[in-house]
Amino acid sequence: MKISILGSGSSGNSIYIENSNNKILIDAGFSGKIIKEKMEKINRSLDDIDGLLITHEHGDHILGAGILSRRHKIPIYITKESFIAGEKKLGKIDEDLLNFLEKDFNIGDFKIKYFDVHHDASRTVAYIIEYNNKKIGVATDIGHADNIIKYNFQNLDVLIIESNYDHSMLIECGYPADLKARIKSNRGHFSNDDAGKFICHVHHDNLKKVYLVHLSKDSNTAHTAYNTVKSILDENSINIDIEVVPQNTYTQLYHIK
Ligand SMILES: [Zn+2]
Ligand SMILES: [Zn+2]
Repeated sequence: MKISILGSGSSGNSIYIENSNNKILIDAGFSGKIIKEKMEKINRSLDDIDGLLITHEHGDHILGAGILSRRHKIPIYITKESFIAGEKKLGKIDEDLLNFLEKDFNIGDFKIKYFDVHHDASRTVAYIIEYNNKKIGVATDIGHADNIIKYNFQNLDVLIIESNYDHSMLIECGYPADLKARIKSNRGHFSNDDAGKFICHVHHDNLKKVYLVHLSKDSNTAHTAYNTVKSILDENSINIDIEVVPQNTYTQLYHIK
């Protein structure tokens, strides 16, 4: 299995994953044009995508979803709640290409599992993508970690986890008080500390790599996120490859062996 994160943050999120036979995207929160350009940078084509999985209906996750589906005949997988709430942003989706999440499913050789997380969309899900006994866990927007996510994200090979804000930078930044309260709430976003503690909780010997995603541009930096998470892992004697994902560029294809 190979993975590239095409970009992540409040201005857009999208993740590309492939196995030998199948290719999928998780979220399409950039314009269709930008996602096409990002795919070209990793030498991949949107015409080969077998499915687009949506986590929730916020614009930074679905902005380009409708256009990609229409232009490249890509099946969309989404909860009914997010589809209804995001219908205007999605535009018309061909009935044959629209799949509501009802139970775990397969796309070609990928086994796909999903479960609910706490974030203030009409409904938000996290995904586990499995192929050949390797698992990638994806949770880009999480209010807080409950026992369900802690349980489901045991035994991953790759973890993609939100590391949205630094506590003191959030307090000091120019956001209005109600937005700060929303971000910190149980249904807002995961802080760098939350991400560090969560990684300690789900860490095991086969967890090879962690991507920190969805960094705030106003209350976090790549450097701060990395250092905060790294120091929590060091305190717990955990040594693991951490990659901070930027908003505007993409990560090189990583081969999970
Ligand atoms: Zn969101
Ligand atoms: Zn988001």
